[in-house]
Formats: sequence, C-alpha cells, structure tokens
Amino acid sequence: MTTDVNCIFCKIVAGSIPSRKVYEDNEIYAFHDINPWAPVHFLIIPKAHIVSLAHVDSQHQALLGRIMTLAPQLALQEGAGAYPEGGFRLVSNTGKEGGQEVHHLHFHVMGGPRPWLRG
Ligand code: AMP
Ligand code: ZN
Repeated sequence: MTTDVNCIFCKIVAGSIPSRKVYEDNEIYAFHDINPWAPVHFLIIPKAHIVSLAHVDSQHQALLGRIMTLAPQLALQEGAGAYPEGGFRLVSNTGKEGGQEVHHLHFHVMGGPRPWLRG
C-alpha cells in the first residue's frame, strides 16, 4: 500500500498520531475531525496515500464506490438525522482553490442540527 511518511493522515492510519475512530476496514479508515464545523463531522479516507480527488483513476472506482456507500451509513451511526429532515453533506476539498489543506484524499461528512459553525 502507498504511504507517505510525512503525511498526517498516513500517520493516523498507522496509529502514530491518535484519532477517534468511526470505522475501519482493510482499505478505508474514518475518524472524527479534530476541528468540527457541524455537530456530526468526521472524515472518510482511503488507507492508501492518494493525494486528492484529482489523482484518482479507474483503478479507484471500487474504493470510491465503497466510500460513497459508507457515508450515509456512518452519518446515521454518528448521529445525523434521517433523510429528508436530517441528512448530511459530503465534501472533498481538492487543490488550493478547492480549499484542500491535507493532501491525502478525504471526504468530510457533516450533519446534525443547524446552525453549524461553517458549511
Ligand atoms: P481540508 O484538507 O481543508 O479538506 O481539511 C482537512 C481537515 O482535516 C480539517 O477539517 C482538519 O480539522 C482535519 N484534521 C487535521 N488534522 C487532524 C487530525 N490530527 N485529526 C483529525 N482531523 C484532523
Ligand atoms: Zn497520506
């Protein structure tokens, strides 16, 4: 599996930086955002170091499909309300103009009663 020794999210996957786990399997890890914008705010990441959504190709289709399928399940598990009154946002900031700060692909899942701090 591709890892980057200098990447904060690779360190979280490796367990060398602590995180509050939401979900884990052989290729995906999810954990609470350290600086939440919403009552429910966690990140879903591939364990492999993929830099951003601009770096995915056809070999990642199954992985991305699994992440998209997990998002609504984990949102409910973590306390987001059910559709349609509840719901959640799924966001992947990509590149500088996209607001990406951590350059390891991640999907923000945000939900819970409004107002939110941001988003
Ligand atoms: P962005 O790259 O802008 O989409 O956002 C990166 C996100 O990672 C931010 O919401 C940070 O709060 C979050 N983050 C950064 N470091 C950690 C960490 N050690 N544990 C959990 N979340 C983090
Ligand atoms: Zn990484």
